[in-house]
Amino acid sequence: MHIAKIIDNAKKEGRLSLTEVESKQLMREAGINTTDIRVAKTREEAISLSKELGYPVVLKIHSPDVIHKSDVGGVKLGLTSEEQVGEAYDEIISSVKDKASDAAIEGVTVQAMARSGVEVIMGMSKDPQFGPVLMFGLGGILVEVLKDVSFRIVPLEDRDAREMIKEIKGYPLLEGYRGQEPANVPLLEEMLLRLSDFVEKTPEIKEIDLNPVFAYRDGVLAVDARVILE
Ligand code: ADP
Ligand code: MG
Repeated sequence: MHIAKIIDNAKKEGRLSLTEVESKQLMREAGINTTDIRVAKTREEAISLSKELGYPVVLKIHSPDVIHKSDVGGVKLGLTSEEQVGEAYDEIISSVKDKASDAAIEGVTVQAMARSGVEVIMGMSKDPQFGPVLMFGLGGILVEVLKDVSFRIVPLEDRDAREMIKEIKGYPLLEGYRGQEPANVPLLEEMLLRLSDFVEKTPEIKEIDLNPVFAYRDGVLAVDARVILE
């Protein structure tokens, strides 16, 4: 599906917040690598899709009304068998019914469990004065506690992408701290530039949140994506 179609479809349904599935479709159109994600409307479908994708898998709540999936017990990681997928399906549905009783539940999504990498975040928000601004930071606790992030105004030049990665305090973690796998910084730069291009050509988008992105020695992968429309 193409960018305009995904956006029109959400608007027709009266939604400004896109699902993870739609958001990842948009990111793929932008040339950004994301996990392959499928929708399962039943427990049986979740099991058969998991088999197709290959274990281990991740199940997440699929609802247009749930924005922070973990907060409502809507994410189950590292599932390695039919039994675990079945149980996870039931647990997710009952937890979301309990914690977000008004949310329309359309099933779950199934995606491959990605191996861990350095967790980073990328985002776009709109400043009333400067317009679209990209954000880069380290993911997880670091960003939440230390607010170790950098910003640049769209459109980014090559040099902006390079600098905004280099200037975060946690930069040494990207170089492979204490024997950990380093992140491929040129690929992260490329990803920021692609995001910038995409933002420039889709003014209908108000906000993008890629949290987290896993960075590896040889790749980058967005495992979660959230797009909000104007
Ligand atoms: P939320 O809506 O709560 O932000 P996420 O999709 O980000 O939900 O999932 C919560 C956490 O689960 C992520 O921060 C990440 O650490 C992990 N996670 C999500 N998807 C995957 C995946 N495909 N592979 C590995 N870990 C994942
Ligand atoms: Mg997330």
